[in-house]
Amino acid sequence: MNRHPHPRQTATANRARTAAAVARDRFGSPKTIQILSFIAAHLDAAATACISYPNGSRSGFLEMGLALEDVRELITADPDCRFTSGVIEYILAPLTGTPLPELPRLLPASDQFAAQEAELRDRLDRLHADTDAADTDADRWFRAVLDVHSKWATLHISVAVDNRRPYNRARVAKLHLACTTCGGSAFTSPFREEAVCTCGKRQSWADIQVCDCLGDECPALRNIAARP
Ligand SMILES: [Zn+2]
Ligand SMILES: [Zn+2]
Repeated sequence: MNRHPHPRQTATANRARTAAAVARDRFGSPKTIQILSFIAAHLDAAATACISYPNGSRSGFLEMGLALEDVRELITADPDCRFTSGVIEYILAPLTGTPLPELPRLLPASDQFAAQEAELRDRLDRLHADTDAADTDADRWFRAVLDVHSKWATLHISVAVDNRRPYNRARVAKLHLACTTCGGSAFTSPFREEAVCTCGKRQSWADIQVCDCLGDECPALRNIAARP
C-alpha cells in the first residue's frame, strides 16, 4: 500500500478531479445543480479509487469503473448538466491508451448551427492534437476540452428543437437518411421493421441512416415513424 501510484493512474485521477471541479462550478436549475453535485462526488470517488488500490489488485479499478458508470447514468439523465459521456473516455484514456472521443455529428438543418458545430469540432481537433499541453498543462487542457463538450451539449439541445420544426423536415431527412439504391431521402413506413423509398426499395431503419443519431433520437426517422 506504500507504493506510489503509477503516473498513468495519477493522470487519470487528476482528470477525474478536474471534471469534478468543473461540475461543482457549473450553474443550472436546482435539480441540475443537485445532479452536478452527485456527478462531482462520483468523479472524486473514481479518482480516489484509481490511485488507492494496492499493486496487483483489481478492486480499485472495479470501484473506479462503478463510480464512472454512475457518472454516465447521471449525465444521460440530465442533458442540462452539459457533460457528454465522452468525459469518461478522457478520464480513462491515460490508463487505457484508447483514442480520445469524437463529437457525434449533429447534422443541423440550420446553417448557423452547422457553422457553430464546425467551429467546436475544429477547436476540439486542435486540443486533441496538442498532446504537449495535455501532459504539461493537464488541468487547463482538460477544462478547455470539457468547455467544448459543454458548448456542444448546449448546441445539441438547440439543434434537437430546431430539427423538429415541420419546415425543416425535408432538409433533416436529406442530412440524416439515404436510400441504399437511389440515395433519395423520401421514405414511407408501411411496415413496422422497414421504410420504403419512393424508388420502391424496402430497407431496414438502420440501413437508411447516414447520421450518428441513435435510432430513437434521429429526428428524420421519427418523422417517418410519425406518419400513418
Ligand atoms: Zn430509393
Ligand atoms: Zn439522424
